[in-house]
Amino acid sequence: YLTKAADQTNLESYVIGGFVRDFFLNRKKKDIDIDVVAVGSGIELAKKTAQLLPHQPKVQVFKNYGTAMLKAFDIEIEFVGARKESYAENSRNPEVEQGSLEDDQNRRDFTINALALQLNQDHFGKLLDPFNGLEDLQQKLIKTPLAPSLTYSDDPLRMMRAIRFAAQLNFKIENESLAAIESNSQRLKIVSKERLISEFNKIMLTEKPSKGIKLMHKTQLLGLLLPELTQLQGIDEVDGQTHKDNFWHTLEVVDNISKETNNLWLRWAALLHDIGKAPTKKFSKRNGWTFHGHEYIGAKMVFKLFKRLKMPLNDKMKYVQKLVLLSSRPIAIVDEEVTDSAVRRLIFDAGNHLDDLMILCEADITTKNPKRFKRYHNN
Ligand code: ATP
Repeated sequence: YLTKAADQTNLESYVIGGFVRDFFLNRKKKDIDIDVVAVGSGIELAKKTAQLLPHQPKVQVFKNYGTAMLKAFDIEIEFVGARKESYAENSRNPEVEQGSLEDDQNRRDFTINALALQLNQDHFGKLLDPFNGLEDLQQKLIKTPLAPSLTYSDDPLRMMRAIRFAAQLNFKIENESLAAIESNSQRLKIVSKERLISEFNKIMLTEKPSKGIKLMHKTQLLGLLLPELTQLQGIDEVDGQTHKDNFWHTLEVVDNISKETNNLWLRWAALLHDIGKAPTKKFSKRNGWTFHGHEYIGAKMVFKLFKRLKMPLNDKMKYVQKLVLLSSRPIAIVDEEVTDSAVRRLIFDAGNHLDDLMILCEADITTKNPKRFKRYHNN
């Protein structure tokens, strides 16, 4: 249908971006989205496609953006006109003008996202790959079409997208890109919180979230988005006594829990379970290092963090708060004397989240201390 529409409107048209990338990667996804670019009016191509389709779907037109969308056979197809973009210093929203396919490929974030396959019958399936994106797919490389410093400074959201794709696809970010992300990191501030969190959640849902989080840390992005976490890093020593590095420990816990559950919010609880430890850390000769009350402070910090990042302050937030508040209790019960009332209290407080709490604790008890681990299991 797309080919017919392209020929009948006489518009040079291509499938471009994520669909082409995933096609070459043989990557299966739940929802199929197709991006189509027409050299000329994307809206015209969308309307013609809808006319030709048997069920003649409704076309949603976004006039201001010059784009259109329709749904066919459960596939979402987005149509745009090929365009050229130029960016101002303080905004992610570019000036847009009509352009060639090449202009449109130039504005793409990564070489692997700039691949285009032609739709018109005479050249059907012709691959247009001016930046050797196919080779980068094979080499598993995240690379920008233009100079990295320009690509990231124009739209700093791309820094998060680079790390997200590296994490999702298990690709490597090319060194020059990695350096450009680090030197542009402060520009993350002009990106809306919603977009940042949407990318971060995709990292959190990967098989091994520590991979993406470590890349964010290495490029300074993590401290800008989640300073509560980077503040957990480091080991202090007084009188020869040390404590564990709660930042690296947290990453281990997040990876551990990700083997057990795809529940995004349970993964968030693992990420935040120790954040109260930075502000409550104390040393005394009698007790050594302590973090008294970190659970309560941590739960309060969860609220502030969700608010700052414009995440929903609803049941999900309360769920994360509750797990953070209770996360050290089962371990404390095992470490101290197990009393009936302590166990009863825990079960009462956890309510219907008891199973999730146990998954979190299991992830938190590392095998570094086998005796404690065994005690935990026996209990
Ligand atoms: P996924 O569907 O897995 O999120 P995707 O690549 O389809 O991956 P989209 O956000 O739908 O992700 O973007 C579609 C295409 O639009 C990308 O492949 C890329 O070519 C382009 N694109 C999206 N965001 C940007 C951006 N910030 N800068 C430049 N190009 C972008």
